[in-house]
Amino acid sequence: MTFREIYKSLRDLLRSASESAGTEALLLLSHVTGMTKERILLCFEDQIDDISSERILELARLRLSGFPLQYITKKCYFYGLELDIEDGVFIPRVETEVLVDLALDLIEREDLKTVLDVGTGSGAIAIAIALNSHCKVYGTDIHEKAIYIAQRNAKKYNAEITFLKGPFLEPVKGFLKEIDLVVSNPPYVSTSANLSKEVLKEPSNALFAGKEGIDFYRKFFADRSLLKGKDVIMEFSPEQVDHLREICFFGKISFFHDQFGKIRFFHVKV
Ligand code: SAM
Ligand code: GLN
Repeated sequence: MTFREIYKSLRDLLRSASESAGTEALLLLSHVTGMTKERILLCFEDQIDDISSERILELARLRLSGFPLQYITKKCYFYGLELDIEDGVFIPRVETEVLVDLALDLIEREDLKTVLDVGTGSGAIAIAIALNSHCKVYGTDIHEKAIYIAQRNAKKYNAEITFLKGPFLEPVKGFLKEIDLVVSNPPYVSTSANLSKEVLKEPSNALFAGKEGIDFYRKFFADRSLLKGKDVIMEFSPEQVDHLREICFFGKISFFHDQFGKIRFFHVKV
């Protein structure tokens, strides 16, 4: 079988699972053969070995069962970075790149020095901020595997970040005074939401936050004396805007849109 033939059958197979079946087919081919996408296109008429073609079809079946491509290739992309990812750790979304931009703008405007990323997952937000500012950055998560992957990603980019395990502000309570800005893309999906089978393969701790998806915000802001004087920027789901106004009644809250025109982030000074 040639590369062209396997590419075509892979692409047709993946059409039922993905809107970008052609790209996914190339990424799978590249993952299994270790060849770059460009090289594969140059070798389109060459024969692919049987072991590789069998492995590719096996992975295509896994993909068709709803397993996200990023968990198969163990790579994801965020803010121009290629990050390691593994099953069990949330896959960064493109919307969250806007949260990084909002944070970097505020850091520059207010000359902020220390940032905490709560629920860091793969470390995506923390690493993008560390690499694009002069801030000292901390990242926390309740999930051991997330901390491990985040550390690996930070090391890959030589980003000096301290990752700590624990919920909300607990891991940093000894030096909270030092922190100027808290950023977070917390779990905010309602437990009654209808998610695709791909998203449901991601860890539920990273996604769900009670009936209305607002449990994380309620708990986070419950003891706001801890946050006095700090800036907070977080991601949320558009239908939660009124809840957030109510939860953040104590300060001036501003809302921002994502690149798809949806209201998606808020900033509050506590
Ligand atoms: N920041 C990453 C990103 O944007 O790609 C991951 C975001 S994911 C939606 C939410 C993360 O928060 C998960 O990694 C989850 O383990 C973590 N998490 C959930 N509840 C938490 C809590 N109470 N305290 C700290 N982290 C929490
Ligand atoms: N945007 C995610 C989704 O695709 C949810 C992210 C989150 O809960 N922080 O459902």
